[in-house]
Amino acid sequence: MPSPMVDDAREIKEENPFESMMSRFDRAAQLLDLDPDLYAVMRVPNRELKVYIPVRMDSGRIQVFEGFRVQHNFARGPAKGGIRYAPDVTLDEVRALAAWMTWKCAVVNVPFGGAKGGIVCDPQQMSQGELERLTRRYTAELIDIIGPEKDVPAPDMNTNEQTMAWVMDTYSMHARHTVTAIVTGKPVELGGSAGRREATGRGLLFVINEAIKRFKMTPPQTRVVVQGAGNVGGTAARLLYEAGYKVVAISDIHGGIYNPNGLNIPDALEYLRQTRSFEDYPEAEQVTNQELLELDCDVLAPCATENQITSHNADRLKCKVLAEGANGPTTAAADSILHEKGVFVIPDILANAGGVTVSYFEWVQDRMGYFWREDVVNQRLQEVMVASFNDVCRYAERHKVDTRTAAYMLAIDRVAYDTRMRGFYA
Ligand code: GLU
Repeated sequence: MPSPMVDDAREIKEENPFESMMSRFDRAAQLLDLDPDLYAVMRVPNRELKVYIPVRMDSGRIQVFEGFRVQHNFARGPAKGGIRYAPDVTLDEVRALAAWMTWKCAVVNVPFGGAKGGIVCDPQQMSQGELERLTRRYTAELIDIIGPEKDVPAPDMNTNEQTMAWVMDTYSMHARHTVTAIVTGKPVELGGSAGRREATGRGLLFVINEAIKRFKMTPPQTRVVVQGAGNVGGTAARLLYEAGYKVVAISDIHGGIYNPNGLNIPDALEYLRQTRSFEDYPEAEQVTNQELLELDCDVLAPCATENQITSHNADRLKCKVLAEGANGPTTAAADSILHEKGVFVIPDILANAGGVTVSYFEWVQDRMGYFWREDVVNQRLQEVMVASFNDVCRYAERHKVDTRTAAYMLAIDRVAYDTRMRGFYA
């Protein structure tokens, strides 16, 4: 019997997103027979910055916050990735998220590398003024390493269009002119793109549409469970509902609701907006977030956070398709369990890439100074998502690997090719 200490250590490892990312990277690199020089370069981030951010709180006192920006890879273009505000964000998590951005951008073939930022803070406990000062000082600390040609931030958990407007304004004040292309996910009035806010959820809808065709299913026959009701989960649930899917469960951070006959999603989201919780929502059963994952359904879409599907619960999943709207919702230890069960996985680096795809469109539009209609944005997003889905499936069939491994292999292959072409400045 392993000692409890060993078990704890394993647990910590399984739940470390960086370990999850690395074990998939290693497996894909091995299958690709990646050149050892390329392996040595690609397995580490390009740069990591840690900053201490003094903020004048409303009380008049200064509080110092810890922040990170990890720039994982620049081989294919400027680094790209969101900024996350959370009380428990760690450097290892930001490192994993930065690497996932590199692989994600490569899977959908947009000309960006990968980066991610994080600030250890509890935005729920902070005023708008405190959040603004935190954001501006963090941006000022990053000023030398970000830029439209260097590294382009975007929203992530607990950051939004307002946060991006502050980043853009702070950067622009230092540059002495307005630089819209410094961030994506901005308000449309300030150079944002039509369709960006819904893009991650819409991209998820497009790949789910493709996946159910493989099971000869149609939307009305497809029961979907969505974990999360934020920008990704809430939007995906609404768009799936509008497309005729039967969305049987949805949750927020506190718990969820389930109705096997299907929920009225616009109504449930309006209830959540008004009461700030799904509790006591009529005509539905209350479920915990753990119970929700194990509900009988055809498509399970975890759209919240990391480490939801682990070696402990993977064999209890009942879905045919796992569509990962969140980054890293499944630990590496759960991969083989899902594979043995025959679950068709649309991996995060493909499934949630709609956000960064429209971020790319936003960056292009800012640099052109010419803005596209929303239907044009959505059409182009659909083309990218469907083509990328098919690329990954073809890769999986050709190399006889599961879809997650295929997505990593495709991404690593593209980044490796470009790195080799550029050569090493060593
Ligand atoms: N935070 C989003 C993600 O994880 C979007 C990043 C971006 O648009 O740069 O994909």
